[in-house]
Amino acid sequence: MRPTVLLVAIALFGSPATQLLAAGPHTHAHGRAELEVTIQTGQVEGIFRTPMDNLLGFEHAPKTDAQKKRVEQLRQRLENTASLFRPNAEAQCAAKTPEARSPLFQGRGDAGHSDLEYRFGFACKRPELLKQIEVALFTDYPRLHEIQSQLVTPTAQIGITLRRNSHLLKLQ
Ligand SMILES: [Zn+2]
Repeated sequence: MRPTVLLVAIALFGSPATQLLAAGPHTHAHGRAELEVTIQTGQVEGIFRTPMDNLLGFEHAPKTDAQKKRVEQLRQRLENTASLFRPNAEAQCAAKTPEARSPLFQGRGDAGHSDLEYRFGFACKRPELLKQIEVALFTDYPRLHEIQSQLVTPTAQIGITLRRNSHLLKLQ
């Protein structure tokens, strides 16, 4: 029985190593990130969760000037949602003020691993013309390989895996 039980556990939770790094519902696995996008009545709300390693190449509190600079550059980029997530222009979506949370932004790293939680949104004037959201992260952050995405609309919930060569979150 024992080998069977082990296989089932791996199938459910991924490798034991990955499971050890899990923090709450979010699984911390380098190279991977998670995205939830909810669209309703012209409002787009998103939560992007990623290990900081994907964006910075490290997860400890920045020590060198170069590391401090990278953290500051990332923080500034996160203030500009449209540089990361781009709804198609026809929908006339304007970014709301985003919120970026990470222990690293407070100068500390948690137990060697550190995540980013990024909450963003758009208000769209022509939501009926919203067809897709381009995720513009893979080119600038080559350590990021895969984003497990959930798209939630009033009529559907769709799981989509985004990668470098398929980085469009398509609504239809
Ligand atoms: Zn990590």
